[in-house]
Amino acid sequence: VITMQVEQTGGIADCIFCKIAAGEIPTRKVYEDDAVLAFHDVNPKAEVHFLLIPKQHVVSLAHCSADDEAMLGQLMLLVPRLAAEQGLSNGFKTAINTGRGGGQEVFHLHVHVYACRIDWPCY
Ligand code: IMP
Repeated sequence: VITMQVEQTGGIADCIFCKIAAGEIPTRKVYEDDAVLAFHDVNPKAEVHFLLIPKQHVVSLAHCSADDEAMLGQLMLLVPRLAAEQGLSNGFKTAINTGRGGGQEVFHLHVHVYACRIDWPCY
């Protein structure tokens, strides 16, 4: 069994993405259903940059188990669909930062999707 030390700052109560999922912090929404929310990144690194999160609090990819297979599959399948809806016809970058060593700053699982509609690549 491979384990990874992944820090979690605060608890679910302090989680900014849980607050976004609960509608307590306003965002520019890209997509929403019962289990998943997508919204534009507040500090975009490309013309289009949005994040997909499970509404349920999951710290990181390293905290997922077989119980999360359906959720992870749903997130992955939404990536190309939402990217196309955002006009990213040339392709897009997908990133999941995991743990401090992986550059994760918000400890609620999220998938970054970013690119530019024209002049690809732009980041
Ligand atoms: P990480 O480094 O993979 O954890 O990325 C966290 C991302 O969340 C960064 O790209 C931030 O710009 C973004 N972010 C942090 N707070 C907010 C917010 O309130 N709304 C939208 N995006 C946010």
